[in-house]
Amino acid sequence: MSSTPQPAASNFIRSIIDADLASGKHSSIVTRFPPEPNGYLHIGHAKSICLNFGLALDYQGKCNLRFDDTNPEKENEEYALSIQDDVRWLGFQWDGNVRWASDYFDALYEFAVELIKKGLAYVDTLSPEQMRDYRGTLTQAGTNSPCRNNNSVEQNLEAFERMKNGEFVDGSMVLRAKIDMASPNMNMRDPVLYRIKRAHHIRTGDKWCIYPMYDYTHCISDALEGITHSLCTLEFEDHRPLYDWVLDNVTVPCHPRQYEFSRLELHYTITSKRKLLQLVTEGRVSGWDDPRMPTIIGMRRRGYTPEGIREFARLIGISKSNNTVDMAVLESAIRDDLESRAARVMAVVKPLKVVITNFVDGQTDSREAGFHPQHPEFGARIVPFGREIWIEADDFSEVPPPGWQRLTVGGEVRLRYSYVMRCDEAVRDAAGNVVELRCSIDPDTLGKNPTGRKVKGVIHWLSCAHALAAEFRLYDRLFTVPEPDADKDVDFCIYLNPASLTTAQGWIESCVKDAAPETRYQFERLGYFCADRRDHRPGKPVFNRTVTLKDSWAK
Ligand code: ATP
Ligand code: MG
Repeated sequence: MSSTPQPAASNFIRSIIDADLASGKHSSIVTRFPPEPNGYLHIGHAKSICLNFGLALDYQGKCNLRFDDTNPEKENEEYALSIQDDVRWLGFQWDGNVRWASDYFDALYEFAVELIKKGLAYVDTLSPEQMRDYRGTLTQAGTNSPCRNNNSVEQNLEAFERMKNGEFVDGSMVLRAKIDMASPNMNMRDPVLYRIKRAHHIRTGDKWCIYPMYDYTHCISDALEGITHSLCTLEFEDHRPLYDWVLDNVTVPCHPRQYEFSRLELHYTITSKRKLLQLVTEGRVSGWDDPRMPTIIGMRRRGYTPEGIREFARLIGISKSNNTVDMAVLESAIRDDLESRAARVMAVVKPLKVVITNFVDGQTDSREAGFHPQHPEFGARIVPFGREIWIEADDFSEVPPPGWQRLTVGGEVRLRYSYVMRCDEAVRDAAGNVVELRCSIDPDTLGKNPTGRKVKGVIHWLSCAHALAAEFRLYDRLFTVPEPDADKDVDFCIYLNPASLTTAQGWIESCVKDAAPETRYQFERLGYFCADRRDHRPGKPVFNRTVTLKDSWAK
């Protein structure tokens, strides 16, 4: 059923790995995916997951899943569990157990002691405001803190231990690396390694009141796990000297190398966990798994396939240059994957009733129709006919535009898999709205073309007596502009697309009645749909529109 995956295109990271394996620098590779459990993963993370896990698969190496859990106040178990689900759903498995930066808190503490003993770290009591002033600017060197050289190694060791023992209030002091306050790289101006924070931690509880900073934790965790290639996004390029400085100055088993690639940005959506959280907490969407969200869980609920997302990641590639991609590229990858995967049935989302005035029970027959034109193995079902049928209201026009091939009074269309039907009359309600059509079929046209007449239009339909009522959630892009968060002074929420969700009550073929949640279909002429994983029930079908059949945004 799934299309054969294409090999990953070569990229600069693969070239580095090839060279490292050829030179014998490494005999196999170890990568890692290091999310912070402070939110749900999004499409940008999917790029990083496909890169790290994909490399491990291709080179028969290993990829670790390691939670960067150094900010206890923002992290929780729900996020950690969802991240594991997302990685597995995308089709990847990490090596061994899930790892946590907190597994190394004891080791990290000892490495800090090592730095202090070497005279490379010191406890600083400057206030946060003073720290900022002493730090200097991009054009001005910083100033040494009075604590930098005044205290002995012994005094620093004692102060650090007392920090750990909880003798000082939060924020009153920090442990800093002693590097260079005049460095042109701000990250090297005696960066903070530890801060005091009394916060309950999801793994270590209340054991610690000091927590290591990300930059210090990350490189040492990589080294302790024997990571060979530590891949991160470009904003960490300026942190690489610090990554290397720490590893050069503590006794770790190896020195992994950090390589940076560009972040994925997707037009018409946002890829910032903080802003996605804002959408959730302000109730702009129904939750992290709202099918409009660019989260992995949201895309899954919408009906995107792991194969389609992986193919998207392959298509966009890995490089160091700006990686802003239009939503249409993602949608097209999903569409291509669903094309061969989804069974095709008929559904009507905006129903208009049609009465077949010359219907003769018994004479008017049903036809068998296959679920997929290229996949006979998907099987077939009977498409029953009846005196009353539903058609799509948009497939009828009283005053049709030029070139109209669908239904109009006096015109003919082919009912998909069935007869040629002529519209004889439109019935109106008191307000003048068309509420029903009176039509007649040509009984000789079941499965064959009428002689002497050309019928161009084909429309989908359902027998009223046989169809199942269903709810359809028609999703569109979440934002109306390509870069909703480009302007920092404007609240990105003003660009939310008010038409991003339309709910419709319509009908589907009864053959889908036992469809399990997450079953995907192509509803002919309407798009790809997926049975909602939260709300769909066999007796109460709810389908999400995953993507339309054509790119409706391309103009
Ligand atoms: P924050 O650090 O602000 O919480 P983050 O998006 O960096 O957000 P992490 O959990 O730290 O979240 O990310 C885990 C990994 O995913 C990191 O290696 C990061 O570089 C990568 N990543 C995050 N966003 C993107 C993106 N848009 N494109 C590619 N990789 C990304
Ligand atoms: Mg991060």
